[in-house]
Amino acid sequence: MESAWDAVKALGIGFATTFAHLFRRPITEEYPEIKRPLPARTRAVIVLTRDPGGNERCVACYLCSAVCPVSCISMQAAEREDGRRYAEWFRINFARCIYCGLCEEACPTSAIQLTPHFETCEPDILNLVYEKEKLLVDHQGKDQEYNFYKVAGIATGAGDKGEHRKESKPVSIRSNMP
Ligand code: SF4
Ligand code: SF4
Repeated sequence: MESAWDAVKALGIGFATTFAHLFRRPITEEYPEIKRPLPARTRAVIVLTRDPGGNERCVACYLCSAVCPVSCISMQAAEREDGRRYAEWFRINFARCIYCGLCEEACPTSAIQLTPHFETCEPDILNLVYEKEKLLVDHQGKDQEYNFYKVAGIATGAGDKGEHRKESKPVSIRSNMP
């Protein structure tokens, strides 16, 4: 059974703890006046980036929309005259997105990337549907160097993949098989 002395001791410890905190610097940050920089890998709003040459990286391969667990990405593929694919339109419904990052993992061109920008609250839910014009940015995001077509080659009217000047033949995936 607890004695009167134990109760007084517990009370004293409680007061001492409170007293000690009176002289500590506060650790509360007054958001939104103070905005702590977030790590580059933070998973928030998604953008479509460009390659170092300024071209759109997205080749409308549909991998991101296929892997998205909540089906919030949609697009329509189109092809330029030189054979390069692009998304005629590209749409992400951020009202459904769960910021899992799977689309970024699946993207072969490093086009789709999640950013640390998270302040996107909207009173009208329809404003959370972003079209390509809003998603496409003028930089390379986290991947400054990667240029998919420099690796994959491009089939044009002047020749197939690997037949252009200074271009290596495409790697055959079957050649890697045992
Ligand atoms: S972060 Fe996840 S939920 Fe959001 S668009 Fe990408 S795959 Fe879909
Ligand atoms: S963003 Fe990436 S994964 Fe999605 S369609 Fe474009 S190239 Fe494919």
